[in-house]
Amino acid sequence: MAELILVIEDETNIAQFLERGLIYEGYRVEVAFDGQRGLAIARDNPPNLVILDWMLPGLDGIEVCRRLRAASEVPILMLTAKDGVPDRVIGLDAGADDYLVKPFSFDELLARVRALLRRSVPTSRPEVLRFADLTLDTGTHRATRADRAIDLTAKEYELLELFMRNPRQVLTRDVIFDRVWGYDFGGESNIIEVYVRYLRQKTETDNDQRLIHTVRGVGYVLRED
Ligand code: CA
Repeated sequence: MAELILVIEDETNIAQFLERGLIYEGYRVEVAFDGQRGLAIARDNPPNLVILDWMLPGLDGIEVCRRLRAASEVPILMLTAKDGVPDRVIGLDAGADDYLVKPFSFDELLARVRALLRRSVPTSRPEVLRFADLTLDTGTHRATRADRAIDLTAKEYELLELFMRNPRQVLTRDVIFDRVWGYDFGGESNIIEVYVRYLRQKTETDNDQRLIHTVRGVGYVLRED
């Protein structure tokens, strides 16, 4: 059965534009014009992906994003008219996997939808990756450090998996963009820093040694001191 995409967008012309285009591309589509309705649909008929507008009447997109994320790991693509980095970081903090600034082209939206859906499909047999006292289960997406459980968002998981599959190798920013985001991110160059910061916050408590090291001007490397 075709993948189900839930569009939560109060602007009817944009919602209909997305609905028609996505159906034409072979997806099933549900549309909600406000956050409450969107959450109800997501609960009753879990989608494979959510396209979520930031500016919604009533519950705003950020709050909807938090509630969706609290209930599932469904990939969330946020739409925003806001262009400032702090706003984007708020969206990512709330658990969005990606965001697109309006106005956007349908082709660009489609590329991101495909990338998010592709990454959410398990492609290989689950295994437990280990590095130092860090483990990552590719089946359950659960991480531990020194037996302490670590909750990861979908994107944080992908970034950590990339590091864990390539220990002691310097990963350039281009490689990380390509492997984790799956398309050319253009000028949005701080997104890797944002996610590395999230991973460090989650995997390094006071007494833990640093494992994800910055290689200035190049990228990052997972290694022990
Ligand atoms: Ca709106």
